[in-house]
Amino acid sequence: MLAELLSIRRFGPYAHLVLAAPAIARRARPGQFVEVRLSGEGAPFWRRPFSICRAADGRVELLIKARGRGSALLAALGPGAKVDVLGPLGKGFTLTGKTPRLLVGGGYGIAPLLFLAQVLKAKKIPVEVFIGGRCEEDLLLRREMKLAGAKVTCSTEDGSVGFQGRVTMPLEVRLRQTPSPVRLAACGPHGLLQAVTRLAQTYQVPAEVSLETVLACGLGVCNGCVVKIKGEYQRVCKDGPVFSAQDVDWHA
Ligand SMILES: Cc1cc2nc3c(=O)[nH]c(=O)nc-3n(C[C@H](O)[C@H](O)[C@H](O)COP(=O)(O)OP(=O)(O)OC[C@H]3O[C@@H](n4cnc5c(N)ncnc54)[C@H](O)[C@@H]3O)c2cc1C
Repeated sequence: MLAELLSIRRFGPYAHLVLAAPAIARRARPGQFVEVRLSGEGAPFWRRPFSICRAADGRVELLIKARGRGSALLAALGPGAKVDVLGPLGKGFTLTGKTPRLLVGGGYGIAPLLFLAQVLKAKKIPVEVFIGGRCEEDLLLRREMKLAGAKVTCSTEDGSVGFQGRVTMPLEVRLRQTPSPVRLAACGPHGLLQAVTRLAQTYQVPAEVSLETVLACGLGVCNGCVVKIKGEYQRVCKDGPVFSAQDVDWHA
């Protein structure tokens, strides 16, 4: 569908887009994504996947990092532009049960976790969020997470905000101090997801991770995004992107 870009806010390499996309907003679940077709000079052939960061009132929000041609073209659009979006796609995070959640996001990986935090809070499930980045600029959606009612802990590798070091440090402190039942959900760079999986094993906590691979069709047809899950190949775009952490074969 063609969605009108209602607003765009840029900060550093990131951009936050609000699109009018009622049909997608109505059906979207946290952890799902949209595939965006870019146009313009040098536009990539394949659509590019972006997590749904918020979906409400007929609007879909995306948080993107401009890293290549496709994302740069998207980040350069102005209000009023028509954006070709396909979605919602993929399988999202588990929403059942009342167990408190610890959400862990690195960089733009925090995007689907805002939607998740909002839905969990609406279900009266306590949410704590651990946001990590290299520096303050990478700590995204802090204010929005607090407004969503989540307890927020930040960490930066340069120590400019919050804990100095990786986001898994304060997460481990939290897991060690309060061994009451929790569930983990994480999205971010591969190394972060692996570290969260290790902590989940150590502290025997169920965890879900949203995997990022290079996607092509986004519809489960081309099998270009397969990963090994419980010894079998599964498609990130169709069977995921959210998988149970202990099922992922990290060394495949
Ligand atoms: C399910 C899913 C959800 C995503 N959600 C978001 C999101 O919310 N916000 C966001 O900014 N990005 C998100 N991404 C990543 C985003 O899709 C890529 O950054 C984008 O496709 C890059 O396209 P490009 O044309 O700008 O860059 P390209 O020119 O295609 O690539 C630029 C550089 O990034 C590398 N690259 C491209 N795609 C990936 C990838 N998926 N993983 C690792 N390296 C890659 C390339 O190898 C190259 O070095 C998501 C990806 C997936 C699979």
